[in-house]
Amino acid sequence: MDYDDMLDRAANETADVTGTDERLSVPDPEVRQEGSVTVVENFQRLCDSLGREPTHLLGFLQREVGTSGHIDESGRARVTGSFDAARVSDAVDAYVEAYVRCSECGLPDTRLETEGDVTLLRCEACGARSATPSDD
Ligand SMILES: [Zn+2]
Repeated sequence: MDYDDMLDRAANETADVTGTDERLSVPDPEVRQEGSVTVVENFQRLCDSLGREPTHLLGFLQREVGTSGHIDESGRARVTGSFDAARVSDAVDAYVEAYVRCSECGLPDTRLETEGDVTLLRCEACGARSATPSDD
């Protein structure tokens, strides 16, 4: 029994060491044009997969594509202008690099912490804390 525990632990540690290649399973954005508005149908699911607040991702998305938007009652993001799925996907990738993936170990096991008016990315895998881009 103890030996099995040791094997389990060894396996877990090995997984951590090789974990830098770990990929987030983020769904591709499902994007639809509605007049002059771009609707991201699976926005809520995107946020769930990233473990982030929809309003936070939306704020980033708005800055990335330079427009304004809001989240509707069904959890879809609606942003002004025409953006295809690739553009939204690029913005989500940039968000992951800035606000999800640990800059030290590359794992996505992180959460955002606020210290004063600074937002820090805290990694639960390696313990690193790193600055995030300013919200301004
Ligand atoms: Zn880390």
